[in-house]
Amino acid sequence: MGSVTNEERTLAMETIRNIFCVGRNYVEHAKELNNAVPSSPFMFTKPTHALVKADGQAIHLPKGAGAIHYEAELVLYISKPYEKGIRVDDIVDKMALGIDFTLRDIQTELKKKGLPWLRAKGFKNSAVLTRWLAFPGIEPLKDTDFVLLKNDAEVQRGNIKEMIFDPQTLIDFAGEHFGLGPGDLLYTGTPSGVGAAETGDRFTLKWGNDVLGTFSIE
Ligand code: ZN
Repeated sequence: MGSVTNEERTLAMETIRNIFCVGRNYVEHAKELNNAVPSSPFMFTKPTHALVKADGQAIHLPKGAGAIHYEAELVLYISKPYEKGIRVDDIVDKMALGIDFTLRDIQTELKKKGLPWLRAKGFKNSAVLTRWLAFPGIEPLKDTDFVLLKNDAEVQRGNIKEMIFDPQTLIDFAGEHFGLGPGDLLYTGTPSGVGAAETGDRFTLKWGNDVLGTFSIE
């Protein structure tokens, strides 16, 4: 690929403005990390420098910073300015799958100290993004699971039916508290099955039987 960086590859496709992520949005995942099930959405952001496209290449992740966990998530692309009352089907026009990579040991330390998660969640290449699919509307999404394969074995499977806060609630929360507009991404949280990613691992993100993106770790 010569001198084209992953960041340039991603940003050449469209302008991404803000990357919003949701923590603890699936009950089984909250339990596996011994977190309480939240009563309102818990959100954080990543810098746009964290973005990297899953287009078959090797992705470089930090070394010597403890365990790195994969978190497969449905990603929604916001195409209009948020206004109160706007429906998900009207503000989202495409979707993808993504990985919210997390430096889990560092995150655990930050949690203990009550510090922000940026160091654990915002490093370069921590926001993997597949190719886009046209958004079919919320109801049809419930007919399809998204799946993460690690070295050809299924490690995560999710369906938006299992979300604690549905996409409408997440969009209203982000729109009211932070603002939401064209070019913003929403990583909607991960189902159970998160685990370690190590050098040489190969990952495949599937929407139903449709492969949306692959990559490996270097
Ligand atoms: Zn996540």
